[in-house]
Amino acid sequence: MFLKLSNITKRYMQNNEENLVLSSINVDITEGEFVSILGPSGCGKSTLLSMVAGLLKPTTGEIRLQDSVIKKPGKDRGMVFQQAALFPWMTVEENVLFAIRDIKNKSERFARAHLYLKMVQLGSNLTQYPHELSGGMQQRVAIARALAMDPTILLMDEPFGALDEQTRLRLQQELEGIWLQTNKTVLFVTHSIHESLKLSDRILVMGTRPGTIIADIKVNLPRPRLRTDEEVAALEAEISSMLEKEIDKVVKEELKQ
Ligand code: ADP
Ligand code: MG
Repeated sequence: MFLKLSNITKRYMQNNEENLVLSSINVDITEGEFVSILGPSGCGKSTLLSMVAGLLKPTTGEIRLQDSVIKKPGKDRGMVFQQAALFPWMTVEENVLFAIRDIKNKSERFARAHLYLKMVQLGSNLTQYPHELSGGMQQRVAIARALAMDPTILLMDEPFGALDEQTRLRLQQELEGIWLQTNKTVLFVTHSIHESLKLSDRILVMGTRPGTIIADIKVNLPRPRLRTDEEVAALEAEISSMLEKEIDKVVKEELKQ
């Protein structure tokens, strides 16, 4: 199996109490799949992705990427977060070049940076600085930077969450194009049902308290998908009612306290 999460649990210590955040997570992901992790805020999506990234350790269980147990961050996993986190003193081009500085051959390094910056439509913005770019353009740089490292898997944590609706739709479209072009495996965290339906081969729907996977939905629909497509709308309604139940559960628990 390409990526395998086996019997994952995660506990955090909070006010001297152990808080079980994730429980019984078992997932197998095939190479090339675009998989979304969808769930209400606080269900443990970022925690799960950070464990795949190697930034956090599971309390129990293990994660294997191409048969090696993940113990720490590595270049085989490219991350894109909600905030682009670019170096403000470096240009667009320099930000990407910095991420691949261990490629010693200069022309190869530049060619790689330019290839991916072109892919995210920033071929003409090489000498601009992050503060000169819109939020959407900054996220494009972050995506180019992650791709330039040629990771085995791309891990994205609500990468479009801070963008306005129009920019978000545009970047979803472009990410879909890039994914079709590069065949990368993508693990994509979002709380937008629509975004997950637009992009994914598969949606892992998470419930909360503790976070578990409550549904594993194959989205076997032609691309590009429109929200108005009958089958997309039907899946949206189905997932929406699942998530509503989860949120009801949380609200009831909070009212009891
Ligand atoms: P999501 O990304 O789905 O919104 P997170 O993975 O960020 O959820 O968080 C899941 C739960 O774990 C939340 O209840 C959060 O408060 C808790 N949590 C996250 N990080 C920590 C931490 N470092 N220490 C203690 N609790 C944490
Ligand atoms: Mg999160």
